Amino acid sequence: MSAEFAPAATTYNPEKRNGLQLIAVPAFSDNYLWMVCQGDHAIVVDPGQAAPVQTILQQHQLQLDAILLTHHHHDHVGGVTQLIEATGAPVYGPAGETLPACDRRLAEGDSVSLPGVGLELQVLDVPGHTAGHIAYHGTLGPQRQPILFCGDTLFAAGCGRLFEGTPEQMVTSLTKLANLHSDTLVCCAHEYTLSNLKWALAVEPDNAALRNRWHAASTLRKQSQPTLPSTLQSELDTNPFLRTAQASICAAAADYAGKPLHDPIAVFATLREWKNNF
Ligand code: ZN
Ligand code: FE
Repeated sequence: MSAEFAPAATTYNPEKRNGLQLIAVPAFSDNYLWMVCQGDHAIVVDPGQAAPVQTILQQHQLQLDAILLTHHHHDHVGGVTQLIEATGAPVYGPAGETLPACDRRLAEGDSVSLPGVGLELQVLDVPGHTAGHIAYHGTLGPQRQPILFCGDTLFAAGCGRLFEGTPEQMVTSLTKLANLHSDTLVCCAHEYTLSNLKWALAVEPDNAALRNRWHAASTLRKQSQPTLPSTLQSELDTNPFLRTAQASICAAAADYAGKPLHDPIAVFATLREWKNNF
């Protein structure tokens, strides 16, 4: 599959009211608040701000069926209290984190059914960025399109920083995501794609898929469009953090570390440090 994909819209399209809409609502400087809308219904993932979500809900008279949270950071939960006051929507979130509100505490193996917007989701524990971070994966709509809401765990050509977890935990978490269906739409919470790709090209300068992705993403950003969702296949082809078994990546990481690296965890930890300092 090519590394190119249809970007999400950044705003609700009233002409598509009866269809399914996946919307990357921009917030702060580089966050996306993901919304899924269908008919009169909507859900939101990680509303760090309430206002941009409320604008869409009010303008188009949509009912907010659910608020899904992946982890406790302010840029993911800052709008929760205001959205509850405005809509009464139930909040789903990680079992192990302190949140402004949460009606249903979730852990790996739990599922979330949101029939109003055609989502059937399962929960994965993906610690690393935070200790209790969860991801939601499943299918969207009658076509059963595989979809993933991964918060700050997996980014386009990157991954989250390790604020509360170990490299070993993050490798386990990313491996779970890497094993999902390759057609999965990857809905990450930040537009970090160009800076991640710039670094990925330093790691793997000879990767043609990576160079193609850089050109495609640059074009989208020049038009102020999101580079997301990505697809899992595109991440498998270009994201260094999912490619730690590749000989070229191991060699580049060993060069950066100035010593041989004997296991995927050491390669991952070196890549993470490299990206932090890039
Ligand atoms: Zn975060
Ligand atoms: Fe974040």
